[in-house]
Amino acid sequence: MAVVEVRGIRKMFGDVPAVDGVDLRTEEGEFLVLLGPSGCGKTTLLRMIAGLETPSDGEVFIGGESVNGLPPRIRKIAMVFQSYALYPHMTVFRNIAFPLKAEGLDRDEQREKVEWAAGLLDITRLLERRPRQLSGGERQRVALARALVREPDVFLLDEPLSNLDAKLRAAARDDLLEFQRRVATTTIYVTHDQVEAMGMGDRIAVMNHGKVHQFGTPEHVYNDPADTFVATFLGSPPMNLLHKGKYVVGFRPEQFLPESVANDGGATTGFTYHVNRVEYLGAERYLYGHVRGFDEETKVIAMLPVTVQVPITTDQDHRFAVASDKVRYFLTETGERVDPEMLQAPLRP
Ligand code: ATP
Repeated sequence: MAVVEVRGIRKMFGDVPAVDGVDLRTEEGEFLVLLGPSGCGKTTLLRMIAGLETPSDGEVFIGGESVNGLPPRIRKIAMVFQSYALYPHMTVFRNIAFPLKAEGLDRDEQREKVEWAAGLLDITRLLERRPRQLSGGERQRVALARALVREPDVFLLDEPLSNLDAKLRAAARDDLLEFQRRVATTTIYVTHDQVEAMGMGDRIAVMNHGKVHQFGTPEHVYNDPADTFVATFLGSPPMNLLHKGKYVVGFRPEQFLPESVANDGGATTGFTYHVNRVEYLGAERYLYGHVRGFDEETKVIAMLPVTVQVPITTDQDHRFAVASDKVRYFLTETGERVDPEMLQAPLRP
């Protein structure tokens, strides 16, 4: 186990910054997720931690030691990529043993370690097969086993589940988490999937354009997004954002409820909601419309759980409300969140 830290790290490709001054520090044994859209610099950041890419600026520390300039193999890290790159002509056993053989371990030691890793990942029965005789999920476990036998201090995982279908992916996600908890190896996991990030991360670093916009627990980044980028990147559907002069008012679709049910004792902020369309999705109803007093082009979504049975007619105005402590405010100019106490003009419509 080891703490990974990057300080002021930057990577330029020509004059384009792929990673633009990032500071991050894991905790011992933590599962940290790097989340962001395609091209935001997640993979580049991971590759700099691994030593596969040289930073243009800044430093990487593993276990408190600066590893700048050290080659990947002595950083005590193991990487698993999206393409597992198993050797097709070798059995699973030989694939997993490969890094041990390269390190010069004798046959008995190799066997012992392969059996230990295979046991942990529940693939002992697959050891004599070849990669083409495995499912995607099984291949992923073999790739993890191959990373694990080296007993790394740190795992770096780059979208390792992305070529599994949805169902397998959910199962593989559980397996991976359970396995990570068991070995308690510090893990940095790259994904562009916010559901995966929310479900897996102890903490999430939300990235865009080479910068970390926010770093915190899933609850924290979801409930208290630092800016409008984080507010809309997390959550499906994303946070509703209504523009009004210098400010943007934000609330989550599940917080936007008919006035009669929104009031659970605390203060609420009311809106007149014109509903255009209702979608029934079994466990919930999605409403689509706009809010009076704000730009009518801005689509506003409400998500009502099945337990809220208030009838909603379309092409009509309804009184809706959000618990006031759930309303978030941002600056129009920068997108940054502002404390409601700082607001100058009254924002209520
Ligand atoms: P994805 O989720 O699509 O893999 P990412 O967040 O991992 O995206 P990176 O692969 O880190 O993003 O790329 C960040 C930026 O740097 C992108 O604009 C990419 O085009 C650019 N980039 C990455 N590698 C190189 C390279 N070797 N040479 C030039 N530009 C590069």
